[in-house]
Parts: sequence; structure tokens; C-alpha cells
Amino acid sequence: MNSTPPPPHDYRVLYCTHCGFALRVPISCGFRFCPTCSKRQAFRVRNRLSWIFDNYRPKPGYMLKMITLSTINCQDLDSGVKFLVRSFRRLRQRRVWKDHVSGGATIIEIKGRPNSWHPHLHILCYSLRLPWRPLLQAWTAVSGGTACYIQNVDSTRARNYVTKYITKADVPPFLLDGVSKVLIKYRLFQRFGDWHSLHIPKKLYDYPCPTCSRSDWFPDIKIDTYCRGPTRRYHRPQTPTHHAPPSARRGARAGNP
Ligand SMILES: [Zn+2]
Ligand SMILES: [Zn+2]
Repeated sequence: MNSTPPPPHDYRVLYCTHCGFALRVPISCGFRFCPTCSKRQAFRVRNRLSWIFDNYRPKPGYMLKMITLSTINCQDLDSGVKFLVRSFRRLRQRRVWKDHVSGGATIIEIKGRPNSWHPHLHILCYSLRLPWRPLLQAWTAVSGGTACYIQNVDSTRARNYVTKYITKADVPPFLLDGVSKVLIKYRLFQRFGDWHSLHIPKKLYDYPCPTCSRSDWFPDIKIDTYCRGPTRRYHRPQTPTHHAPPSARRGARAGNP
């Protein structure tokens, strides 16, 4: 059993309108590597990717690829990531890219340490057979970077890669906060090319109630706060019962500690 106390986190409570089950949903705290939020983020991205794989029809001859591009190590992480993103934008203007790649999405991953940061891009895309050398030459021309890896992936591996990189940072724990502050300015999963114009529905799946398997949830406007401190160990605001439907009250009471 894990004896480490969970970090302070805010939750929202949803009630099953059928059986009243109270479901705690974490409210995003803004920390990119938060163990509570990142599970949910990864779940959302996986679902979005699944939707794309089910609905996007690649042009004939275009296959799914994973490309990794990196720049030379940088001293300042903020400007290094900016440069990486800008360089990738410039690469997309190059002939070799335009002629081979139709669209995809990028994820930024950070490795390294202060004064020697190594930001790099993982790119999931559909492309024709991509010539490695011309692509590397184009990447070096726009960024100075000398590393470019291309691999074929299937949709299952692609989903696994993406969720791995979203929740991962190869830096010591005490640096995570600084890395998160830089990455928070960028989307977790930035689409480009013809993936940009895909209209992915906001609600992709119904989360089934663990008790009755229905998927109708009633939101509680109150926030359920788990707080550890010298004076307050556990505080949960009282839920005004008139906000919840009659069937939900049973579950709300049952869920109280
Ligand atoms: Zn239920
Ligand atoms: Zn969080």
C-alpha cells in the first residue's frame, strides 16, 4: 500500500441521476506532472486519438509515423522551447515536409537539467514514405538540430507513445515545477496540417456509473476540497441538498466520510 498522502487537490462532485452515486472528478490544478490530473489528461488525449483514428481517412499511400526532432541543448528552457516550436513551424513550410506529410500532432518532452536543457518534439503524423536525409537536412537548416528519428507505428502503439510522453518528464523531481511553468503555455497535444481542421466532438464518451452503469450525471456546483494542514485535516463543504435531485441525496450522504 502507498503510505504517501495524496497532494492537496480540488475536486468537483458529479451525482448519478439514477442511483445517486457521488463521483469525485479532479479540477485541473495547472501542474503538468500532477499525478491526479495527468491520468485524466492522458485518458482524454487517448480518447481524442481514438476518435481521430476512427474518423480520419488518410490519403492513399499515407501511413502513420512517429518522428522525433530535437534542437541542440539550451541554457534557458523557456527560450529553448520557444525556439523548438518556431523551428517546427518553419520546417512545415519546407518542400520536403509539404510534399510528404498531411497532418498530425506534436507533444513537447523535456530532458536535461538547468543550463543544459534538451527539449524535443514527438510528432505523430500521416505521411508518404519519408526520406530521412532530406528531412534531417531541412530540420538542420531551420533549427541547427542534428537529430531526427522516423519510425512506423500502428494506432495502438501511437496511443501508448502519446500517453507516455504526456505524463513524463526526464528531469529530477525538484525541477518539475519549473518545467511545468514553461510547458503550461503550450498545448499538451498540438494538432497541425489537416488534423487541425478535424472537428473532434467535446464529449467523446460517456463515463458509466460504477454502481448502475448509466451515464447521466448531475453536477454539484460546490467544490470538494481535500486539505492537509496544521488546523484543517479534512474539510468538505456541506452540499446543499436542494441542489441534488432526490435520488442523488442518498448517494451524497453515503459518500460523506
Ligand atoms: Zn448510478
Ligand atoms: Zn492536479
